Order: sequence, then structure tokens, then C-alpha cells
Amino acid sequence: MQKRLEGRVALVTGASSGIGEATALALAEAGARVAIAARRRDRLDTLAARLAPLGAEPLVLVADLVSETEAQRVVKETEAHYGRLDILINNAGVMYLEPVAEADLGRWRHMLELNVLSLIAASQAALAGMRARRDGHIVNVSSVAGRVANPNAAAYAATKFGVVGFSESLRREVYKDNIRVSVIEPGMVATELREHIGHAGARQAVEARVAEMRQLQPEDIADTILFCVTRPSYVCINEVLLRPTDQE
Ligand code: NDP
Repeated sequence: MQKRLEGRVALVTGASSGIGEATALALAEAGARVAIAARRRDRLDTLAARLAPLGAEPLVLVADLVSETEAQRVVKETEAHYGRLDILINNAGVMYLEPVAEADLGRWRHMLELNVLSLIAASQAALAGMRARRDGHIVNVSSVAGRVANPNAAAYAATKFGVVGFSESLRREVYKDNIRVSVIEPGMVATELREHIGHAGARQAVEARVAEMRQLQPEDIADTILFCVTRPSYVCINEVLLRPTDQE
């Protein structure tokens, strides 16, 4: 029996852990060929070894996506390698939480560049090929922080609200080319994301919230993304907001 994504090519950014890793596996299990991008080569190689037996013909792309030219490069290398790119999952991101008054603007610049500018650059790079084939799907991973702004998350919320706004504007620019744009807004997911929070108070506040709930798992988000990209081409899931049942 033909798998649902057979013949399709996907690129997942931030595939070396968490949501991106689970999504790459889900897309491969559904029959897609999958390119995976992030900085940690060892983690990408380990994932590639799990993708290959699924027939995903994985392409490992080591890249620091904080650079917009690197974001463009991974798209172009995927197209060059497989001859096309059908599904772009813009997932790479960081979450640096700290109060505005104490914020390290250099760190916040890094977050804005990775979470927003790099996602914009990758999307832009994918458009020409998708337009030429009149077929493509861009999935942007935002957050519940793209819908609700919490203390300590001013800049993170700015990036994720930014992703929501960018995605809707892009969707309206490209829907007539049969290109779909979906934005995913997860609540708390059990991943490495919080490990990079440097501000002790902000980290403790998040850990206290996490302790009260059953978190989502990366596979829950991967399932949601898989659902979006396996709809018939006339169906575009514009936006999905999903929280742990226990999250306010
Ligand atoms: P992880 O920390 O597990 O994954 C983040 C991914 O982004 C890693 O693969 C990491 O790879 C990659 N990444 C980080 N910096 C760079 C960089 N400079 N260049 C290339 N890749 C980079 O966290 P999640 O899986 O949770 O995060 C994935 C996305 O989901 C993010 O956009 C996050 O904001 C979003 N999200 C997460 C939620 C959660 O509760 N976990 C909730 C809502 C949204 P590497 O370090 O190897 O480069």
C-alpha cells in the first residue's frame, strides 16, 4: 500500500532533538524523504541512522541557522539533492527567558534572528521551487507564547507572535499558488528547550509550572504536524494551538 507521503520531500530544521527529531521520524514513517538540519552533527547522524531503514534517504545538513544565509543554504541544498522540496518544517528555535529589566540584548538578538529571521529566510528560499511546481507546504512552529504573553517571556513572545503574523501574511500571499502555510502553537512540551534558560528566577518559575502538569511529548506535536501535511491539497490547516490538559 502506498504511504501517505510517498514521493514527498521534507526539510526539518532543528531536527537534532525534541519536536524536530520526532517530526522527522513521523514524516519518514509516512513515506517522505527527509533532510534534517541543526548544529549538532552527532545527534543528526544518530537520527539519520534511524531514518534510513524507513526509506527516508536522509540528508544531514549541519548548519547554524542563526545566519539567514545558512537558512537559505539548507533549503537550496535540499532542493539540489532531491530535486524538490515539498514540505518545509521551520522548527529550530531557542527560548531565552528573563525579565526585560535584566535582559541581555545580545542573547535576545540571537533569539530574534533564529526564531524569526531565519524562519523567514528559509520560507523565502523555498518559495521559488514551490511556486514553479504549484505545490508546497510550509509549517512554522510558533508556541502558545505566540498567543499569550507571559512575564519573563517578552522577547520569546515577540518572536512567536512574530511567527504567527508572518505565517498568516505569507499564507495570503501564496495560497493562489497552491502553497499551504500552517502555524503550530504548542504549550509545554518535554524537550531540552528549557535547559538553555540562563536566568535562575525565570528557569525556576518555568520548572514550578512544569511540576504541576503532564507535559505534551514531542510525538504529540509530530502527530499534529503530520495531520496538517497529510490533508488533501485543497485543505489548509492554518493554525493549531494545543496545550497540555493541565496547562492554564
Ligand atoms: P529543543 O531544544 O529540543 O530543540 C531545538 C532545536 O533547534 C534543536 O534541534 C537545536 O539543534 C535547534 N537549534 C537551536 N539553535 C540552533 C541554531 N543556531 N542553528 C540550528 N539549529 C538550532 O526544543 P524543542 O523541540 O522544544 O523546540 C523546537 C521548537 O518548538 C522551537 O521553535 C520552540 O520554540 C518550539 N516550542 C517548544 C515548546 C516546548 O515547550 N518545548 C513549546 C512551544 C514551542 P542544535 O542545538 O543541534 O543546533
